[in-house]
Amino acid sequence: MLLLGLLLFAACVPQFFYSNSGQSTSHGSTGNGRLENAYLMDYRLDNAKYFSLSSYYLLGNGYVNSRVYHTLLEAYQSLSISCPDRQFYYMECSSKKGGKQLIHRTHQNGLSVDFMVPKIRHQEPSTFYDHLGVWHYLLQFDEKGRLNFQTSVQIDFETMGKHLIALDDAARNHGLRIKKVILKINLKDDFFKTESGKEIKRRGIYFAQALSPVVDKLHDDHYHVDFALR
Ligand SMILES: [Zn+2]
Repeated sequence: MLLLGLLLFAACVPQFFYSNSGQSTSHGSTGNGRLENAYLMDYRLDNAKYFSLSSYYLLGNGYVNSRVYHTLLEAYQSLSISCPDRQFYYMECSSKKGGKQLIHRTHQNGLSVDFMVPKIRHQEPSTFYDHLGVWHYLLQFDEKGRLNFQTSVQIDFETMGKHLIALDDAARNHGLRIKKVILKINLKDDFFKTESGKEIKRRGIYFAQALSPVVDKLHDDHYHVDFALR
């Protein structure tokens, strides 16, 4: 027990004492790459938070390229004005040196981030299921974006679009662009019906067109964003 405790503590130590400085370099692709001089996302911001203590501290999956770091910070800053009543969650990013991770085939070079879908219930923000940590990845939503075991809880596609618009704006200021968004295929029509979804379409932000059944099934509780250098 003591040994296990020490091992777990040792795994967390790098994250406790990490400090960001300089600039990161992403090598290779999101599917086969690595990350040099990573930045560790803050665990908590004013209106946003990393989704899981164990993913952040134990697995060390909260690292990104410095440009992505600054992009996310700026995006959440602007969301504090456009969506003042909302709390956002960012999910798994990359490992400190990039490369393979436990549950992702990509996320290898610090340019990929998963974002938790914002939810509403009876037109009000619904945050109950935001606190599931890594188990949030297992939530399933139907083709209308309703949580399968509590259909009154729905994906807030409008807020999701506002988040992507904020990310797109901020990315441009930090030498990045959104290269690809992955969202479950049968949810895209509902997303693009919203005002912010229409703006995303107008901006020409690319959403994956076809996904393998396994990848498709996974991208309902979160959407995946790949950034690329401009
Ligand atoms: Zn992902």
